[in-house]
Amino acid sequence: MSVPRTHRPRSKEAIGAYLVNGLLKQVQARQIPLFCNVKVTRILTEVKVTGVQIQTEVGQQIIQSRAVIIATGGFGASKKLISEYRPDLNKYQTTNQPGNTGDGILLAKDIGARLVDMDRIQVHPTVQQDTDHVYLIGETVRGEGAILVDQNGNRFVNELETRDKVTAAIEKLGGTGAYLIFDAAVRSRAKAIDFYDHVGLVKSADNLTSLAQELGVDGETLSRTVDKWNESVSNRLDIAFGRKTGRYLLETPPYAAIHVAPAIHYTMGGVKTNDQAEVLRDDGQPIPGLYAVGEVVGGLHGGNRIGGNSLSETVVFGLRAAQQVRDYIFEM
Ligand SMILES: Cc1cc2nc3c(=O)[nH]c(=O)nc-3n(C[C@H](O)[C@H](O)[C@H](O)COP(=O)(O)OP(=O)(O)OC[C@H]3O[C@@H](n4cnc5c(N)ncnc54)[C@H](O)[C@@H]3O)c2cc1C
Repeated sequence: MSVPRTHRPRSKEAIGAYLVNGLLKQVQARQIPLFCNVKVTRILTEVKVTGVQIQTEVGQQIIQSRAVIIATGGFGASKKLISEYRPDLNKYQTTNQPGNTGDGILLAKDIGARLVDMDRIQVHPTVQQDTDHVYLIGETVRGEGAILVDQNGNRFVNELETRDKVTAAIEKLGGTGAYLIFDAAVRSRAKAIDFYDHVGLVKSADNLTSLAQELGVDGETLSRTVDKWNESVSNRLDIAFGRKTGRYLLETPPYAAIHVAPAIHYTMGGVKTNDQAEVLRDDGQPIPGLYAVGEVVGGLHGGNRIGGNSLSETVVFGLRAAQQVRDYIFEM
């Protein structure tokens, strides 16, 4: 993450909604049937894939098809699978929506798919979880200049280290979480902060002493930390933690803070596929007619995922799977 490399919409809109709205328009324009509130409960096969069994509000039904693309996401919201593969993460909350239950992984496994890297689970370091909701505070806040401090007001890590390392550093603080500290200039560059403020996650004050008081942090320590950070930015040398991404001074009031702690965010493991999105068996052979894309797939990111790479993956392999299915169906 040492150079700008994440692709975003030109309008700086939130990327997820941007992609989904675009896709939905295409689905509507092409009159592609879409079934909502149904749950796939089985993938049907007779040597080749022949369709899926679904559970609807009015009972079970079969949808016949010559190919199936699994795009059911990861299993970050499945306590059962987390307990099975990473019991050490049982206590964590998750940034994932409740539908991320790993169904697709289990459905594919039932018909012989190979699973890989199931114990590789990414815990995101900066998640606000003091209310009923869990909010991921994106890298953009740190990328645009925020620092992280502990309960004493001291920095303790290179804020833009990989997610696993920043998580480990926060965990070492002993369960207190940490504070993201930023100023009005960071806020003007990281538009998401307006939303975080709107939902009540941001504490702000006209100066660092008042902010520290509001957080229950020592004011002198926090001011000293920010002075030292500004010095590092000016000298382009962060002696304490070696952060090379400090480009902006924190000097524009009001100052603000968000309390964060780690939470389960992304499951790198899942169904093994090849580069054409075909689902593979244990013997490495594709299951005819079965494809998988997105977070349900395992093995693409390795032990950790770099921010931004999941949506790139879904777009690239979504298209590839569609092209494969088209060719597969016409060959039949
Ligand atoms: C808060 C947050 C922020 C993120 N920000 C970024 C980012 O900025 N950049 C980036 O690259 N990645 C980001 N990610 C990761 C990325 O959003 C996900 O990895 C990606 O959306 C996964 O897409 P998908 O299509 O594989 O699955 P999903 O988007 O999870 O969709 C799967 C769908 O399948 C449904 N489903 C599951 N089981 C069944 C079943 N049995 N029958 C029918 N339907 C089923 C689910 O309910 C869900 O609707 C973020 C994730 C979160 C949680």
